[in-house]
Amino acid sequence: MSIIKKLSVVWLSSCMALSAWGQEVAIVIHGGAGTILQASMTPEREAEYVTALQAAVQMGYGLLKSGAKGEEAVVAAIQVMETSPLFNAGIGAVYNFEGQHELDASIMHGGTLNAGAVAGVKTIRSPIAAALAVMEQSPHVLLSGKGAEEFAESIGMEPVKNTLFNTERRYKALLKAKERILNANITYGGQQGNERFGTVGAVVLDQYGNLVAGTSTGGMTAKRYGRIGDSPIIGAGTYADNASCAVSATGHGEYFIRYHVAADICSRMKYRNDSLADAANAVVNDVLVKAEGDGGIIAVDAKGNIVAVFNTSGMYRAQIDTQGNMKVGIYEEWITE
Ligand code: ASP
Repeated sequence: MSIIKKLSVVWLSSCMALSAWGQEVAIVIHGGAGTILQASMTPEREAEYVTALQAAVQMGYGLLKSGAKGEEAVVAAIQVMETSPLFNAGIGAVYNFEGQHELDASIMHGGTLNAGAVAGVKTIRSPIAAALAVMEQSPHVLLSGKGAEEFAESIGMEPVKNTLFNTERRYKALLKAKERILNANITYGGQQGNERFGTVGAVVLDQYGNLVAGTSTGGMTAKRYGRIGDSPIIGAGTYADNASCAVSATGHGEYFIRYHVAADICSRMKYRNDSLADAANAVVNDVLVKAEGDGGIIAVDAKGNIVAVFNTSGMYRAQIDTQGNMKVGIYEEWITE
C-alpha cells in the first residue's frame, strides 16, 4: 500500500464521527489547472503537492465538522495554499512583466449572496482574508490596488513587502515567459506557456446548509501591470448561491470573465434544473473548449454533490465528501481513490 493510500485510510477512520450539528458537510479545493504531465513530474514533487493538498482540504473539513461557518473553512483552506510556495497565491505567486506580484482574491456566501474581493494588491499577506474583510467589514464588494491595501491596514492587517511572495521557481518562469513574449515581438503575452498554473480555490457546504466559494491567485505570469483576472470577479472566477451551487475557477482569466463561467454554471442549475455535473461539464468542456479558454472549476451544490472538471491535462485538487471520503488528484485520474 502506498504512503498516500495509507494516509487516506488513517484519515478516513478519523472522520467517521458525526458533525456537531448533524448536518452533512463537504469541501473541494483546487490548486490550479494547466498542462500538468506526470512525465514531467518527479515522484518527490508529486508527493509534495499531494501532502499540501491534503493539508489544505483537511484544514477546511476539520473546521466544517467542528461547526465553523463556511467562510472560515474556505479562508483557512486557502491560507494553507497561500503560505505554500507550491501554489500561485500568496507566497509562490507568479510575477507580472515588471517583476512584481499583484494578487487577486474573492469570496462569496451563497446564503446572503454577500461577496468581497481584492484585486491587484501587493502588500497584503493573505488576499483571501482581505477579501473576507471587504465582505464583512465594508459596504463594498471589490477593492483594488492602494485602496484595498489601505483598507486592509486600517482593519489591522500588517502590510508586508512584495518580496515576501518571491520564489526562484516563479522568477525563472517569468524569465522564460518574457523571452517568449519578446521573441514573438508582442508586448505582454496573451498567449501563456506552462508557467501560470497554481491559482487556489475552495468551495464548501457547511453545517448550516450554506454554500461558500473562494479563490486566490497571483494571476498570469508576465501579465501587464494592472491586469486583473477572473479570480476577484464575482460571477467569473467565484460564485455561490444556496439555490444552486458554489464554484471556484482556475484558468485563462480573460475567457472566464467573458463567459462568466462560475455564474453560468450556477444559472444552468437554477433556471434549467441541470444537475451540477451537467452544468459544470457543459461550461468547461463545451462553452470554454469552443472558445479555446483553458482551465477548470470545482463546485459543490446544496445536497453536497461535488465536481472537479477541467479541460486541461491536469488540475491540482482534493475533496472530502459528505461521507468523509477524501480524494486527491493531479492528472485526469484521481490518485487516492
Ligand atoms: N485565472 C487566473 C487568472 O487569469 C489564473 C489561473 O487560474 O491560472 O488570473
